[in-house]
Formats: sequence, structure tokens, C-alpha cells
Amino acid sequence: MTIIEQEAELIREAAHRILAGESLSSVCRDFASRDVRTSGGRLWIPTTLRRMLAGARISGRREHTPRSTFETTRPLLGEIVADAVWPAIISPLDSDRLRTLLSDPSRDYRRLAATGRTYLLSGILRCGRCGHRMNGRPRSGVPRYVCPNVPGSGACGGIATNAERTDTHVRDMVLTALDSPALAERIRHQSGDDDNLSELVRADEEQLEELAEAWAAREISRKEWMAARAPIDMRLEKNRAQLASLSRSSPLISFIGTADEMLARWRVMNVSQQRAIVSATVRTIAVAPANPRKRWDPDRFTFDWIA
Ligand SMILES: [Zn+2]
Repeated sequence: MTIIEQEAELIREAAHRILAGESLSSVCRDFASRDVRTSGGRLWIPTTLRRMLAGARISGRREHTPRSTFETTRPLLGEIVADAVWPAIISPLDSDRLRTLLSDPSRDYRRLAATGRTYLLSGILRCGRCGHRMNGRPRSGVPRYVCPNVPGSGACGGIATNAERTDTHVRDMVLTALDSPALAERIRHQSGDDDNLSELVRADEEQLEELAEAWAAREISRKEWMAARAPIDMRLEKNRAQLASLSRSSPLISFIGTADEMLARWRVMNVSQQRAIVSATVRTIAVAPANPRKRWDPDRFTFDWIA
């Protein structure tokens, strides 16, 4: 129950980085390179980090996991039942965001952990001929993105582009797009929505707690309790889903600034952090066939911008 301040600081760091869009495996790799270990002396792995960050405990709260499911595989999220006696390392608001983000089925952490991507634009680039996702693959030691030539996949294998020049071009395009007052305004607005939604979710969770207490104190019947919680549960589910979709654009909130500031921030980011910025800005980038008379042709790239 006592927090060693150094450990608390690491939990805060990991929480902040995951909320900024970095992957669990990327944070674990960085921790390993700094020889940061768990309290049990082991290296951090994505599943352990995910469970710790999704737990209510680090925000000073207690959660209840139904026993029947506990005996098989413990579900990631239990129901938050009370403020606990241990001190909070991160705020309940950040904890709610992490719980939403880490339980989002659209983020497949096992896959991300297994691939440990090193190519900035794998899966973001689309073949301009067949529409298939392009992957990073070196040829003669030169990193490239290619439409994979896999029989039966439907991919044509006919398009490739130099990875380094493509990464630089996409970075410049993304930073230019982010350097606009209209976009900055949209992101600030979204971040406000995010706060409001988190507040609504917190209020509903508190109301559920109060109802449970009222039933425990026999002020209301079990039937009344169930009837009262139904509309709250429905609202909670809707707001949590919306919060999850807003959280996807959250990497940009702490990134946007002047062109110089953004470039400086980009340069100290790892590939996983940079991917989060690109993914929050463009859906896909189509790559047209190369013009044999041009060595490098930025017009081959068509960006599908988000908003
Ligand atoms: Zn293709």
C-alpha cells in the first residue's frame, strides 16, 4: 500500500505515453533499454503493462470483478465500486481514458506487440493500383514500402516506394496540415468534448455507486435498484463508446504548436509515437505507380485527411 515515489513516477510516465498514442510494446521496449523493471524484478511486457494501466487501483479506486469470470480468465475491466484507501497515482479522469482506450477492441495489442513495427507508414500506405495495404520491406538493404506480392492475397505486388523519402515527405505534409489555425481550433474543441464526456461518465458511475449503497442500506428494494440503474447503464455505454472514438485523436492535443515546435517534438519521438500522430491526421495515403522519367515524385501520394 505504500507507494515508492520512483515507481509512481514510472506509472505516470507510462500512462502519459499511452494516452499520447504510443503502443504498449514501444513503452516496454523503452523501459527495457533503461533497465526499468517491475516491483518483482521482471522486465515489463505489454500484457502486464496493459493490466496495470487499465486497473482502477492506480487512480486510488477499487473495482469489483465477478467471481465466476475470475476463475477462468480475469476480464480486463471490473466495475468501479468505491474510492479505495490507497493514494492515487493518476487522476480518475486519466484512469477512465486509459480504461476506455485499453479495452477498445479495435486496438489489437497482441498483434501490435508481436510485430513491433519499425516502419512509420506500414498499413497506412495503400497501393494505387490494387488498393492493398503496403508494408515495409528492404531490398538490397534499402528500406522500401511495397505492395506485397503474396499469391491469393489479391495484392498486385506492382508498386514500391523508397521508405526514407516517403517518410520525410509524409512528415512534411502532416506537419503542414497541422500548422493551420482551423485544425488547431478543431482539436481544441474536441479536447473540450473529451473533458465533458469524461465528467458525464464519472457522474453516472457515482450515481450507480449511490444506488448500490441505498440498496445495501435497505432504503430501496432490489427491484427499484435494477429499474433505476437501467437508463444509467445505457447512457454510460453510449458515452464510453464516444469517449473511445475521441481518444483516438488525443495524440494531437499535446503535439500541435508552431511549425518549429512540432518539428522539434517529432524529432525526439520514436516510430510508434510518430505513427500515432500520422494516424490521427490521415486515414490512408494512396501511392500511384512511379513515373519512370522522374527519380522522386511527390505527386504520387494522395492523402485521405481526417476532417
Ligand atoms: Zn498493388
